[in-house]
Amino acid sequence: MNFKAPRGTADVLPDDQPFWRLVDGAAARTASLFGYRKIDTPLFEDTRLFQRGVGEDTDIVEKEMYTFGDRGGDSLTLKPEGTAPVCRAYLENGMANLPQPVRLYYLTPIFRYDRPQAGRYRQHHQFGVEAIGDGSPTVDAEIIELGWSYVTSLGLGGLTLKVNSIGDRVCRPPYREALKRYFGEHVKDMCRDCKSRFQRNPLRLLDCKNESCVPFGDAAPRATDYLCAPCGEHWQELQGLLADLKRVYPGLEPQLDHRLVRGLDYYTRTVFEIQPPLEGGQSTLLGGGRYDGLMEQLGGPPTPGIGFGCGRERLIMNLRRQEVKGQTDAAPAVVAVHVGDAARRRAYVTVAALRAGGIAALVAPPGRSVKGQMRFADSSGARYVLVIGDRELERGVATLKPLTGDGQREVALDPHEIADALKQGL
Ligand SMILES: [Zn+2]
Ligand SMILES: [Zn+2]
Repeated sequence: MNFKAPRGTADVLPDDQPFWRLVDGAAARTASLFGYRKIDTPLFEDTRLFQRGVGEDTDIVEKEMYTFGDRGGDSLTLKPEGTAPVCRAYLENGMANLPQPVRLYYLTPIFRYDRPQAGRYRQHHQFGVEAIGDGSPTVDAEIIELGWSYVTSLGLGGLTLKVNSIGDRVCRPPYREALKRYFGEHVKDMCRDCKSRFQRNPLRLLDCKNESCVPFGDAAPRATDYLCAPCGEHWQELQGLLADLKRVYPGLEPQLDHRLVRGLDYYTRTVFEIQPPLEGGQSTLLGGGRYDGLMEQLGGPPTPGIGFGCGRERLIMNLRRQEVKGQTDAAPAVVAVHVGDAARRRAYVTVAALRAGGIAALVAPPGRSVKGQMRFADSSGARYVLVIGDRELERGVATLKPLTGDGQREVALDPHEIADALKQGL
């Protein structure tokens, strides 16, 4: 029997790690630059949290959740998205008593029983941020700025920012009705998914990617034409703030996309996505929006919030495509090469002392010729070799050589002296 990783999952091998180090390091750096603090929530939650928080009519809750009963009879679900758990934690831990908005970020695996394809996994990993407790458009602009700052700091280019406002509980119902009237005339010519979504969630017909449905979405009524006065003001203000950001980020050109609604029920007002070049609407690098009604759905007091999620696998796929380099492993500073039995033993204790002092060091494998040991040192990426021979050992010295370039130096076989020589670059 041959075991394989479950369908839609992947091992992150040592050779992949430089990219993960790059995207995770940049996430923590960017988040802290904006005053966002880290939060970790459990990998699984009460199933009802997602039924209430994400919405019964969504693809996620209908067919993509990993739900299981535990031995105590509770129904639990592996996190299919990051926002509802953070909102649950906000309520449960009394974060409403902190200065608002509470700015949080997280790096978490996300589990969805999805059709696996390029950049889409059943266990994928997200960088997410949430700003909870302040409904003003300046927070929307801050979140969008954070997302843009993050992806561009990684060295990605050719990105597009799409924005839309889908209104709130006051103006969304009339917009829904307008969509129902419009799609009512066309749904017979649209795909099967659209036919089944039409009654319950006509907004989802707007962003159907099916070729035969796209023209109907393009010509559909626009949410921004239906905004009530407070939503309209919010939207105007946000557009002004984003226009100002262009002074700092010349590439940041928000495009209004009235077909952008995002897949989750909880979004209100601002929704946005950052898309990579080439793939059009098929792929989103980072997406999010405002969710002012979510806290009440979870049993809390009315509390505005906004955030985004960014799939790290898809980000890395785009980094590779744009030939951005990852952040490589630290190679050992020095490899000890040994000639003779006494020298070999001395090599081990010398390397142990160097490592205890914080210097990355390895002993070349025993049982190889000096030439073979040098080859090992080369392939390890080390900068120096420390050559210890039985005869030199009698004098208490060894030879330190750079692996590329000239020059060598005799050093006392003393960890402090070797460390000093390495720091000085011989
Ligand atoms: Zn469709
Ligand atoms: Zn409104």
